[in-house]
Amino acid sequence: MDNSAVVVTVDFNRPAHAHELRPGDMFAFPDAPNTLLTVLGTDTTTISAELTLASLTIAGCDRRLNIPGTTHVWPARMVRTVTLKCLLCDEADDIEVNLPMDGKPVTVVCANHDHGSTEPTTAA
Ligand SMILES: [Zn+2]
Repeated sequence: MDNSAVVVTVDFNRPAHAHELRPGDMFAFPDAPNTLLTVLGTDTTTISAELTLASLTIAGCDRRLNIPGTTHVWPARMVRTVTLKCLLCDEADDIEVNLPMDGKPVTVVCANHDHGSTEPTTAA
């Protein structure tokens, strides 16, 4: 990621669904907010049209955790790469964010714009 890009974010202060978790994420259950769990692996098992289980491998836990995919969890770390188009020049930019800390990116002004005097550089 180019650090001179300006990213506009909105707060990501909502619970996530269990099926949104990816390896490397950290989360807590609402009932145990101080117990942070680290996801090592994820899988899904479809039981029926209305029920899909998220099958999570958790660090320090021998057994896989099978919970409904729509179970609410509080994310502590969810690093995602989001592709956004620059507000000014429409150039696509990959933004890496940790959603609970950084918020959810909604728009970006890429590094091609100097936020000041100089004209944007246009590639030939
Ligand atoms: Zn731009």
